[in-house]
Amino acid sequence: FCHETKTFHSLRPAAPLPDENLPLSAVAYTLSFLPSPLPSNSALIDAGTGAAISYPEFVSRVRTLAASLRSRAGLSKGDVAFVLSPTRLDVPLLYFALLSLGVVVSPANPLSTAAEISHQIRLSKPSVAFATAATADKLPSDLPIILLDSPRFRSFLSTAALAAAPPPAEVSQSDTAVILYSSGTTGRVKGVVLTHRNFVALIAGFHAAREAAEAPTEGPSVALFTIPLFHVFGFFMALRTVALGETTVMMERFEFGAMLRAVERHRVTYIPVSPPLVVAMAKSDEVDRYDLSSLRLVACGGAPLGREVAERFTARFPNIEVVQGYGLTESTGGASATMGSEESQKYGSAGRLSACLEAKIVDPTTGEALPPGRRGELWLRGPIIMKGYIGDAEATASTLDSEGWLKTGDLCYFDQDGFIFVVDRLKELIKYKAYQVPPAELEHLLQSHPEIADAAVIPLPDEEAGQIPMAFIVRQPGSSLTEEQVMNFVAKQVAPYKKVRRVAFVSSIPKSAAGKILRRELINHASTIPASK
Ligand code: AMP
Repeated sequence: FCHETKTFHSLRPAAPLPDENLPLSAVAYTLSFLPSPLPSNSALIDAGTGAAISYPEFVSRVRTLAASLRSRAGLSKGDVAFVLSPTRLDVPLLYFALLSLGVVVSPANPLSTAAEISHQIRLSKPSVAFATAATADKLPSDLPIILLDSPRFRSFLSTAALAAAPPPAEVSQSDTAVILYSSGTTGRVKGVVLTHRNFVALIAGFHAAREAAEAPTEGPSVALFTIPLFHVFGFFMALRTVALGETTVMMERFEFGAMLRAVERHRVTYIPVSPPLVVAMAKSDEVDRYDLSSLRLVACGGAPLGREVAERFTARFPNIEVVQGYGLTESTGGASATMGSEESQKYGSAGRLSACLEAKIVDPTTGEALPPGRRGELWLRGPIIMKGYIGDAEATASTLDSEGWLKTGDLCYFDQDGFIFVVDRLKELIKYKAYQVPPAELEHLLQSHPEIADAAVIPLPDEEAGQIPMAFIVRQPGSSLTEEQVMNFVAKQVAPYKKVRRVAFVSSIPKSAAGKILRRELINHASTIPASK
């Protein structure tokens, strides 16, 4: 799998891709995998209310909604729609309808603050926003808003005004499908441009993998979504479950007991998760109170899953396979995964490279491509790699090279069997429970405080969350600012998952000659500071 040139190739079954010049939206491609007649299992189920949408209803509602959005809300190809909503059944319907029209979908975390949202809106320049009564007031007042929990939206779903409108514009695979938000390897949040082709290639890989699966499963799979739909993981899963004719059970708000109840009630077969949930399941006594016998696997991604946690989980649930996957928003989420029970026992590994991808391991100092067993920055190339960062040629050029290689900012190695191991993060990113916390954003905020002379934010390892943001602060002379004051100052201005959770006061921030924060020094320093109560 590794050539003389030190390029690694996928060992997965090749996934034939449609001709890239064929006009095709990600939705048309996804729906093309559905059998006729349509699957008889539900497409979507609301875990809270029990409301269910069958496959025939799902397909017809997507068509009705698309027609309404076009003729009654005036949306057409190339428009950008911002989506600010908690998980609810309407969200996948909305994604499918918008994508089928070639309207660019740009979902954001509903916990974001108004300031964070206005930064995202400046990047993606939407002409409309879809929100709920609870999230709408964080949107700028000059942006037209359609409320998902309004009679107007209900009517969009039930009665289409198909009359006299000209046929919708054709969607090309090279058209932008989605703008998602990520800070990439450095700096503030950027808008990641993913095309219809990116999703077509990803879905093709999932389909080929299922065809090649070890043993056919009995009955359709039932997925329980606890992952957010605005993150690349939730976004692609919403397409994947439909392409594979699966049932998706959705929870609006995550609660551990409710999740276990939903597994029992809906005979859930798998749960896409981030590592904290694997930790919680491995440790909780609550799991013994429910019948989880339907559960065959948990698919874990978004942040590293420790070997001990995976082993502990497997010891407790010997019949549940832990699939480990790795990816970035910039790689449409799915860069590698384990496949089948044998591979998932390779604990600590992020699996093998997805179909259609090539990889290199590059020495960060010399730029030399390295063979298996050697550590370096992982570079990825293939049809699931983003087009670039919207309106940011500079950030795009430093992340994607002229040959199409994406520099992931992750320190990795391949073993002799083609398994990827993610060892560390070279980039600035902190991942709190798999959510992105860009340190540069918190540093700017801290530096705006009148009593703070300088600040740096680093990831501190944490068993439950994976990492927590820790701030090193240089106080202004004469200031008696406390840890609590620093934490409150940040907490008031950012989404809850971005809060600074630990503070240390120092006399200076170590910097390189070029003025770059020497984070590694601070990370090493943090490990010597005893934990506070
Ligand atoms: P995001 O764009 O939010 O999906 O974040 C992507 C980053 O999350 C990657 O570049 C990694 O640093 C980290 N990540 C995702 N999955 C894994 C994994 N399985 N193991 C280690 N790190 C991961």
